[in-house]
Amino acid sequence: MTAPHHVDTIFPVEDNCLLIGGMPLTRLAERVGSTPFYAYDRQLITERVAQLRAALPQEIHLHYAIKANPMPAVVQYLAGLVDGFDVASGGELKVVLDTTMAPDKISFAGPGKSEAELRQAAAAGIVVNLESEREMETLARVGSEIGVRPKAAVRVNPDFELKAAGMKMSGGPKQFGVDAERVPAMLARMKQLPIEFYGFHIFSGSQNLRAEAIMEAQRNTFELARRLAKDAPGPVRLLNLGGGFGIPYFPGEQRLDLQAVCEHLAGLVPDARRDFPEAEFVIELGRYFVGEAGVYVSRVVDRKESRGQLFLITDGGLHHHLAASGNFGQVIRKNYPVLVGNRVKPEGEPSLASAVGPLCTPLDVLGDKMELGHAQIGDLIVVLQSGAYGLTASPQAFLGHPAPVEVLV
Ligand SMILES: *Cc1c(COP(=O)(O)O)cnc(C)c1O
Repeated sequence: MTAPHHVDTIFPVEDNCLLIGGMPLTRLAERVGSTPFYAYDRQLITERVAQLRAALPQEIHLHYAIKANPMPAVVQYLAGLVDGFDVASGGELKVVLDTTMAPDKISFAGPGKSEAELRQAAAAGIVVNLESEREMETLARVGSEIGVRPKAAVRVNPDFELKAAGMKMSGGPKQFGVDAERVPAMLARMKQLPIEFYGFHIFSGSQNLRAEAIMEAQRNTFELARRLAKDAPGPVRLLNLGGGFGIPYFPGEQRLDLQAVCEHLAGLVPDARRDFPEAEFVIELGRYFVGEAGVYVSRVVDRKESRGQLFLITDGGLHHHLAASGNFGQVIRKNYPVLVGNRVKPEGEPSLASAVGPLCTPLDVLGDKMELGHAQIGDLIVVLQSGAYGLTASPQAFLGHPAPVEVLV
C-alpha cells in the first residue's frame, strides 16, 4: 500500500471543491471550456514574491528563470513583480523582450548558444552569461559586426557543489559554465575584446529543500567571486548567486526553511557590499515562484477495475505532464500530490485508485494507488505543484492528442 499524500495544499477548499484563482474548480473548468488544462493562480504567485521580499535583505534582487514556466501571460505578470529575467534560448528571449523588463535586467545562460542567438542577445542589449571561451569570441565578433558592445558575465562552474540538490549543476566536470580555474585566463582575454564585463553567474544546482546546503553554497559563491574578481577587466556589476530553492513534491518532504536561508544571506551581505560596491546581487529562481501556484486538471473519462485494482482513466497524461508521471529526472517513481478537485474529501472511507492517462504505455501514470477511489466519471483530477516544468517539459507530440489549454487566473 502506498502512503497517502499529505501535502498541505495552498489552495483553499470550499464546499469540498478546490478554489483556483478564487473560483471553484468546476466553474473554472467551464470557463476554460475543455479539459485537460493547466491553471496558474496569480494571487499565489504574488504572495510568493512578497514572502521572498519580506524575508530577503533589500540588497538581493530577484530574477525569474523562465524555463520553469514560460507561458507568456505568466512571464508578463512576473515582469511587474521581479527585478529581472533569466532566459536559456532565443525563443525564451523573445518572450521576455515582449515584456516591460529593461534589457540590462535580462540575462541569457545555457551552453551551446548559437551565433544567431548571440547576435540577437547583443542587439537586444541583454547580459550574456558566457558558457565558454568560444562563446566569448563569437559574442565579441557579432557585437563588432552589428556595432554594439555586448554585455557579458562569466558563468562559472564552481569548484564546490550544492549538496543535496535535486539537480546538481556544478562541481566536477560539467557542461555548464567555465571551470573556475580557467576563468582568470578567460578574463585576461576579455580585456582585449570589445565586450562590456558585467560580472559572474554562479549557479550550483536546483530543487534543494535543505537550508544548510543552500547557505553553504551561498557562502562559497561569494568567496569564489572574491577570488575571481581580482582578475576581472572591470568592476563587478552583477553577481548572480544562483538559486536552487526547492518546493516539496513528494510524501515526507519538508518545506525549505526560507527564513534561515534569508537570515544567513543577510549576514553575508555587508562584507559583500564592501567588496563589490557596484554589484547588483541576484538570486534566480524558477519553480519557487510558480511551482506551487499551478495545477494540471484532467477529467475522468472511464473508471475500470482490473483484478482488484481501480483505475481512473483521464483525458490527461504524461504527454502534458511528464514530471508527474515520474519520468522527468526521477530515479524512483513517487506520486505528486493528486486529488479529486471537485470532491476533495470522500464521503465514506477513503479508498485507493490509480489515475492514469490515455496513452498506450504503462508509464502514463499521474497518481499510483492514491486516495482517489471516490472519483466518478466526469470528476476532475488535479495534480498539484504543477506550475513549473509542466507543459513545456513534456512530450506533447507523443501519441497525437490535442494540446491542453493554459490559463492564468
Ligand atoms: C533551471 C535553471 C534555473 C531555475 O531552476 P529552478 O529549480 O526552477 O529554480 C535557474 N537558473 C539556471 C541557470 C537554470 O538552469
